Amino acid sequence: MSVPPERQWQRAVAMLTGADRVALACHVAPDGDALGSMLALGDALRSRGTEVVASWGGEPFEVPAAYAFLPATDLLVPPWNFPAEPELFVTLDSGSPDRLGTLGDRVRTANCTIVVDHHATNTRYGGVHLVDDEAAATAVLVAELVDRLDVELSQDIAAALYTGLLTDTGSFRYPSATPAVHELAARLLATGIRHDLISRAIYDTAPFGWIELLGQACATARLDVAAVGGLGLVWTVVEAGDLAASGLGLADVEGVIDVLRVAQEAEVAVVVKADPIEGGWKVSTRSKGAVDVGAVCAALGGGGHLFAAGFTSDDDDADTTLARLRAELEAAPHLPT
Ligand code: 5GP
Ligand code: MN
Repeated sequence: MSVPPERQWQRAVAMLTGADRVALACHVAPDGDALGSMLALGDALRSRGTEVVASWGGEPFEVPAAYAFLPATDLLVPPWNFPAEPELFVTLDSGSPDRLGTLGDRVRTANCTIVVDHHATNTRYGGVHLVDDEAAATAVLVAELVDRLDVELSQDIAAALYTGLLTDTGSFRYPSATPAVHELAARLLATGIRHDLISRAIYDTAPFGWIELLGQACATARLDVAAVGGLGLVWTVVEAGDLAASGLGLADVEGVIDVLRVAQEAEVAVVVKADPIEGGWKVSTRSKGAVDVGAVCAALGGGGHLFAAGFTSDDDDADTTLARLRAELEAAPHLPT
């Protein structure tokens, strides 16, 4: 699977231009690409006169503080007010219906579903698929859709798309940040958006509690150079108590993995986070290129990309979850790097 065929683009554009109402959903616990892609498309459709609602099917239903600057957040409706039988349903950055949480059933009840995504594991659960596993972000596909809808690239749309590009390429550091990605970024910047303020909001702004939480997470981090077949593993656990003490929510802990993965002795970095709302654990994994953590997490009921993936677990304690993950990591084949 690679670039979506022309026929799929044409069908998607015909449906989106023909619909009076469109309902958009992205994955639960949305990140920059999920939110940015959804709000960029929502803003573009609204500018054409379409009635748009947007949501995600999980709690907390609150835009994370780091993404509060995003445009078109007035399109957001809580999942319990989302249309039960949308005329046209569009999902963004979601590889399978379960990633849509409580909105997953709309794939069945909607008149038609357009899937816009870049996960290699996408299960093709819609009627029309704009799916490209080589796209650096879902935002890349939405940028093309905005062009094909003949919508002018406003600063609002550009800021939302830039957010998706920035976050899914690790600030343009991953191999996915190709020349074409930089060209798209240049186009977005040329609208006059303040990319410096976007980066500051996402990466360089947090309450002091985050510093304390990071300190705790780093102080309790462990390194096992023999793990992952000798490639090395670094991990930490963020307990519910740590989170409560910091006054932060689960979404605020996202950045911890980016600090942990710096450890040069470890191919794989893992953060196990207690979920204060759903209970259980939310696990983030990253690899440097020699292990497909997407496949590892898929084997544990989650998913993601080759080098950034996650899963959830209902184990009573983090050690049980870690033991299951370590066993999968031991068995994972080593990729050529
Ligand atoms: P993060 O660690 O930043 O939460 O997620 C990294 C990547 O893994 C993202 O592409 C995200 O969509 C995916 N991911 C994280 N958790 C899950 C999960 O529970 N299930 C699936 N299918 N993908 C996940
Ligand atoms: Mn994405």
